[in-house]
Parts: sequence; structure tokens; C-alpha cells
Amino acid sequence: MTIKLYWENAYEIAFSAKIIKIKENGIVLDKTLFYPESGNQLSDKGYLEINTFKFEIEKVFKENNEILHHISSDFQDKINIGDSVKGEIDWEYRYGLMKAHSSQHIFSAVLKNNYNIDTIRANINFEEFFLQMSQKLDYEQLKGVLHEVNTICTLKNLTIKPKIITHELAEKRAKEIRSKIPDESQVRLIEIENLDLVCCGGTHVQTTTEIGSSFIIEFKKGNKIRFYVGNKALSIEASINID
Ligand SMILES: [Zn+2]
Repeated sequence: MTIKLYWENAYEIAFSAKIIKIKENGIVLDKTLFYPESGNQLSDKGYLEINTFKFEIEKVFKENNEILHHISSDFQDKINIGDSVKGEIDWEYRYGLMKAHSSQHIFSAVLKNNYNIDTIRANINFEEFFLQMSQKLDYEQLKGVLHEVNTICTLKNLTIKPKIITHELAEKRAKEIRSKIPDESQVRLIEIENLDLVCCGGTHVQTTTEIGSSFIIEFKKGNKIRFYVGNKALSIEASINID
């Protein structure tokens, strides 16, 4: 079982590990900072240095409950089980995913708290997220929600904390938790101070003002919405301001 270093500290960039399995399409390590694509968040990118070789990592995913670092170049005759590995994730890319994921939680929480609207689908991409709601919102409601989300992400500096608790304890707190509780013995929660508590295995920023303002780039059928955050949002805001 791989130790999930990305859960211990989402802000670490480099790590050392050992190879515990070599498969046809990649390798499994004893620990990793690479978040594997799962739930609704894309995986990290970066590289792994093994012996004298440097392998680009473009995709990491879960396969039979293992975290597989996919390697597309020839690697099998260059490495062995037990070899030491030095890894580094692409921080700019990861931070863009963290901002998008935390921002999505805030948007979903405001929708739930103000209108009792559930998020039925969410996809987290680099500085971008998509969300599908259980009911339609009109433009005035959407304006209000966006204003509140942007206030939280630019003026109110709320803390965001991950927490791992037992399934039993999570069931006891089910009414406070804005999601289904997964059928696992340990449940990971993401808590945004005085706003939200939800089960989530993703990587998140520590405070809401790290996110900055969000920008809506698509609003379809009243219930599907796509946002930019970070530099993608800033670029659009700057060009609209000048145009
Ligand atoms: Zn999440």
C-alpha cells in the first residue's frame, strides 16, 4: 500500500521513495506525492528520477487499489524493485488544481446553504472547474452566489483543513456532512471554517484567499456551469476591463 504523501502535506513538491512494483505500463512506489486521478480531480504531472534516468510522468491513476505512475517511454530494463526514486511534481499545475478544487467546494457549499441545491457532478481541471446542479438557478441567484463565493475567496480568509476520521464517527456527524459517506473504514473530510464539511480525497489550499476571484465562462440550461480561477480568471478579467 502506497503512503499518500499528498494527503499529509499538499504543499510539498519533492520526495524520495522506493519502487515496490513494476507493471507493464508503469510503477508503484512505497510513497508518493503524485495525486492519482480519482473522484473528480485530474492527476498530478511531474517526473521521477531512477538510477541515472529521468522519466516524465503525465498520468497517475488507481489500478486494483494501487497508485500507478504511468511511464510511456521504455523503462522496464532500466529499473528494479527496491530502487530509490526521487520525484518532483509540477507545482504550478498542482496549485491550479488545488485552487479549482477548493473553489468548487465553496461554490457547492454556498448553493447548498442558500438554495438547498446539490452538486450532482463536478470536474476539476487546471484553474478550471465544471459543476452540474440538482436544480436550475436564475441569473439573479447566480449573481448573488458568485458575489458570495468571491467575497469568501478574496476578503474573508477562511481556513480549509483536511481530517481523517473513522466511518463510525462520520456516520454520527452525517447531518453536518454535505455528501454521501463512502463505504470505507477511514473517511477523509475537508472542512471549510464555518461554511462546509464534505467527504473528499482531493488536494486543497489552506486558506480561501489563496484562490482569488472566480470567473464564469459558461452557464448552460440554468444548471451547468464552468468557471476559471487563478491566472485563467485574471487574464479574462484584465481583457474585459480593457476591451
Ligand atoms: Zn472534493
